[in-house]
Amino acid sequence: MGRGHAVVLGASMGGLLAARALSETFDRVTLLERDELPAEPRDRRGVPQGRHVHVLLPRGSQILGSFFPGLADELGALGVPRTQLARQIRFVVSGHRLARGHPGPVMLQPTRPTLEHVVRRRVAALPGVEFVQGCDVTGLTATAGRITGARFARRADGGPEETVGADLVIDALGRSGRSLDWLSQLGYARPPEERIQVGIRYVSCFMRTPPDALAPEQGILVGPVPGRPSGMAFMACEGDRWLLTVAGMAGTQPPTDVDALIAFIQKMTPPDFHEVIAKSERLSDPVVHTFPASLRRRYEKLRAYPEGLLVFADGLCSFNPIYGQGMTVASLQAEALRTCLEAGEHNLARRFYKAAAKAIDPAWQLSAAGDLALPEIKGPRPLATRLINRYVARLHRVGATDIAVADAFWRVTGYLDPTPALLRPRVALRVFRNSKVT
Ligand SMILES: Cc1cc2nc3c(=O)[nH]c(=O)nc-3n(C[C@H](O)[C@H](O)[C@H](O)COP(=O)(O)OP(=O)(O)OC[C@H]3O[C@@H](n4cnc5c(N)ncnc54)[C@H](O)[C@@H]3O)c2cc1C
Repeated sequence: MGRGHAVVLGASMGGLLAARALSETFDRVTLLERDELPAEPRDRRGVPQGRHVHVLLPRGSQILGSFFPGLADELGALGVPRTQLARQIRFVVSGHRLARGHPGPVMLQPTRPTLEHVVRRRVAALPGVEFVQGCDVTGLTATAGRITGARFARRADGGPEETVGADLVIDALGRSGRSLDWLSQLGYARPPEERIQVGIRYVSCFMRTPPDALAPEQGILVGPVPGRPSGMAFMACEGDRWLLTVAGMAGTQPPTDVDALIAFIQKMTPPDFHEVIAKSERLSDPVVHTFPASLRRRYEKLRAYPEGLLVFADGLCSFNPIYGQGMTVASLQAEALRTCLEAGEHNLARRFYKAAAKAIDPAWQLSAAGDLALPEIKGPRPLATRLINRYVARLHRVGATDIAVADAFWRVTGYLDPTPALLRPRVALRVFRNSKVT
């Protein structure tokens, strides 16, 4: 298969990362995208979530940096803050403000349009990569047991449907990607799904704080707690702006009037931050995004599946966004794709879905456990989930005063360490010993 033609459906972060991985194996990579892609960092219709806080976790930053050397400097040149996670971002989890000490991992804080713009520019510069914009992907082409390409229509022309042949097609059309339907039209079963109804509503607006009002801090993240299924983030970003995002869960509806929004977050936000937010200049009207459920599609469990098609990124799993995992997990999938392609074509779909599931598992477990710690979220809570949630609540409490425990938490949520690192004796002993005396 190598050195042929790969076609990527969708040119958002998932599609761009897939294209980067494919470019190492294929002579030609073509991305088909419905939107006209802006020449400047700008919101676009196909990525409405891009108007809200988009945290790039430290592991995601590392992988992007390895795929695109110099990316952090490019973002820095556009004014994107580069922060020391454990020193400059305030975390309030389970109602506790985590202790700070070591600088912790570095985090980049671009807005989503700026990150996508810079990554797209780098992908476009790769040899053999071509973007076809303003086209609706309408289906797949297939022969027995194999997907052979895609069908699309150019929107502006209103012209006839066209086809493009491919040795490999990647569906990066996002969570509502149509491969599910197209595959069932070809006679394949739908993959089993897991779903957690989180009923999220995000409301966001840009602000400008008085100069250095919060320095050296560069942001705050306040998580939900039982009895108050809502949270907030206020993050510095490029253009000397801050982005306020307020999240309501389980049907909680943050208001869309700025004054009402600021009043809504008063109780959950530390007073020093709230005071600054209240007197910040308002740069944009609030925008809303709703997200009904975390959704995982288990393609790795299907018995019959055609060669020549891989579903990627949010099409495989889209997480409750408050944990900021989507782009990092997409970058882990891109690494997995590269490794699978290096080993050749044989059984590619089976190998990729297995590797992708391994990358998704810890993220899904972390977000599911976090969601199910809230009584307002419906879902099964087996004993293991209840025990883990009690342990994590203790860990947050101890992490308010114990830097080593807080550090372990940051490293796991930033994907720098595997989840079991939270249970290592060095951490667990501190959690149990210290939580007894508090
Ligand atoms: C509210 C919200 C907040 C989030 N916050 C974070 C965060 O803090 N950190 C993080 O890492 N992740 C976050 N995410 C997740 C992140 O946005 C996604 O994981 C990431 O964009 C990768 O998704 P994707 O590329 O698979 O799909 P998408 O981003 O949904 O992109 C799909 C692409 O396909 C195109 N397309 C769709 N249909 C067609 C068609 N028929 N023909 C041609 N093109 C088509 C679209 O125009 C779009 O470009 C958040 C998500 C939401 C909803």
